[in-house]
Amino acid sequence: MYILDASAFINEFHTTDRVATVPLVREELEGEAAYRYDAREGAGMHIHIPNEETIDTVRRVARDSGDDSVLSETDVRLLATAFELDATLVTDDYAMQNVADRIEVPVQVIDQEGIEEQRSWIFQCQGCGREFEEEHDRCPICGTGLARKNPS
Ligand SMILES: [Zn+2]
Repeated sequence: MYILDASAFINEFHTTDRVATVPLVREELEGEAAYRYDAREGAGMHIHIPNEETIDTVRRVARDSGDDSVLSETDVRLLATAFELDATLVTDDYAMQNVADRIEVPVQVIDQEGIEEQRSWIFQCQGCGREFEEEHDRCPICGTGLARKNPS
């Protein structure tokens, strides 16, 4: 099961697995994203209300990690929901990822920039310095090994 935060609705996270969220997420959405929330709810998305006890635990962990000042009430409830339902949290938010890690909740990132960055790796020959967009075992020109290099 996946727990969806606002960015999952804004970026159209696709999955055939069961999904859940918290009511507060609906208030952060407008336009198409709000429509997608309603459509998912109509299709059986679980709307979860986490226990106060779990919410307190998440807050305590966030205080310890220094993330409490940047986590919203919605963020805390989403984390508590993922913990209670033993589910994977879908979020782009770094503070949420950090706290999720500490309470052993797996995270699925949907950041499109992250995907772009991986595609933009280039490979440079350690001998002649030529650069290639595809990985080769050896430089096709001089036969020396290639090293991966981030152009940015
Ligand atoms: Zn070379």
